Amino acid sequence: MHGSMQDGFGRHIDYLRMSVTDRCDFRCVYCMAEEMTFLPREQILSLEELYRLAALFVGQGVKKIRLTGGEPLVRRGIVGLCEQIAALPGLRELVMTTNGSQLVKLAKPLADAGVKRLNISLDSLQADKFHAITRTGDLQQVLDGIEAARQAGFERIKLNTVAMAGRNEDEVLDLVEFALARDLDITFIEEMPLGDVGRSRGESFFASDQVRDLIAERYSIIDSAEQSGGPARYIRLEGFAQSRIGFISPHSHNFCATCNRVRLTVEGRLLLCLGHENSVDLRALLRRYPENDQPLLDAVGAGLQRKPERHEFTHDNDIQVVRFMNATGG
Ligand code: SAM
Ligand code: SF4
Repeated sequence: MHGSMQDGFGRHIDYLRMSVTDRCDFRCVYCMAEEMTFLPREQILSLEELYRLAALFVGQGVKKIRLTGGEPLVRRGIVGLCEQIAALPGLRELVMTTNGSQLVKLAKPLADAGVKRLNISLDSLQADKFHAITRTGDLQQVLDGIEAARQAGFERIKLNTVAMAGRNEDEVLDLVEFALARDLDITFIEEMPLGDVGRSRGESFFASDQVRDLIAERYSIIDSAEQSGGPARYIRLEGFAQSRIGFISPHSHNFCATCNRVRLTVEGRLLLCLGHENSVDLRALLRRYPENDQPLLDAVGAGLQRKPERHEFTHDNDIQVVRFMNATGG
C-alpha cells in the first residue's frame, strides 16, 4: 500500500534527493573550501539506514530518488545500495548526480544496478581551467567517464554546468557544442550562496539569461514547455532534436510554487527547502526505533507541514545558509 505526501501548501511531494556521503575527490570552488573537515563515520547514515529511509519514502509515494553528495561514487558499497533502491516497488526511477571521476570503472555496474539516468558535472573543457575550478580534478578522467556512461546504456545523460563570470562564461558555446555532438542534454546552473567558500559570490555571478543570450548568438532557440520533474526550464535548438538545454535559475526565476521535493542530508536531516535551515532529525529516530517506522512517518508528516513556501536567495546577499552543498545533496 503506497501513501502520498502533501505539504502545508498543498504541494505533492514525490521526489527525494539523498546525499550518500559528504566526501568528495574534488574541491570545486563554488561548493567547498580548500581545506574541508568531513563528518566522522558514526554521524553519517549507514547503507542500511539509507536503504530503510529510501524504502520508507517510496512507501509514502516518492516516485523518483536522486542519489548525490558529496561525490556519491566515493561511498563504498554504492552500487549495491543502488541495486537495492532501484528494486523498491513503486519507485519509477533512481537517478544520480556525479562528478564523473569514477565512471570509467562504475558506469556499467550502475546501469546494470538499475540507475536510469545520470547528471554529470562539467564546468570546463580546458584541462587547466577544469583543474582550477575543481582544484583537484583531471579533465581527461571525466571525459573518459562521460564516454563510458554513453556506452553503458543509461536512458539519458545530462551535463551540469555552473556558469561563472570570469571562470567559464567564455566556454558556454563550446560546452553546448560538446553536448549536441554527443546527443546529451546540458543544464546551466546559477551559483547559489551555500556555505562560506572563502570568497564573495557576487563576483562570479552569471545569470541564466546571459547564458541564453550567448547561445542565441550561434543557434536558433525553440522555447519548450518540457518539465523533468525538477526546477529546470528548457529550450531546444533548431536542427538538434536529441538535446535539451536547461537553465536552473534560483535567483532570476523563482521555481518554488511547483516544488515537489525534499532532501535528506548524509546525517539524516530531512531538509524541507534548500534555502532554509529548518529540518527534521531522522537519524535520531532511525537509531532509537530500529524496528518501528511509525515515529519516523509521524516526524516526516509533521515536518512537511513546515516546508517553507519559497526560498529567498539573492546573489548580492552572500551567505544565508551556512551548510555546504556537499553535505546537503545538490
Ligand atoms: N559531486 C557530484 C557533482 O559534482 O555532480 C554531486 C554533488 S554536487 C553538490 C551536485 C551539483 O551541485 C553539481 O552539479 C554542482 O555543480 C552543483 N553545485 C555545487 N555547489 C553549488 C553552488 N554553490 N551553486 C550552484 N550549484 C552548485
Ligand atoms: Fe565535489 Fe560535486 Fe562539490 Fe564538486 S560540486 S566539490 S564534485 S560535491
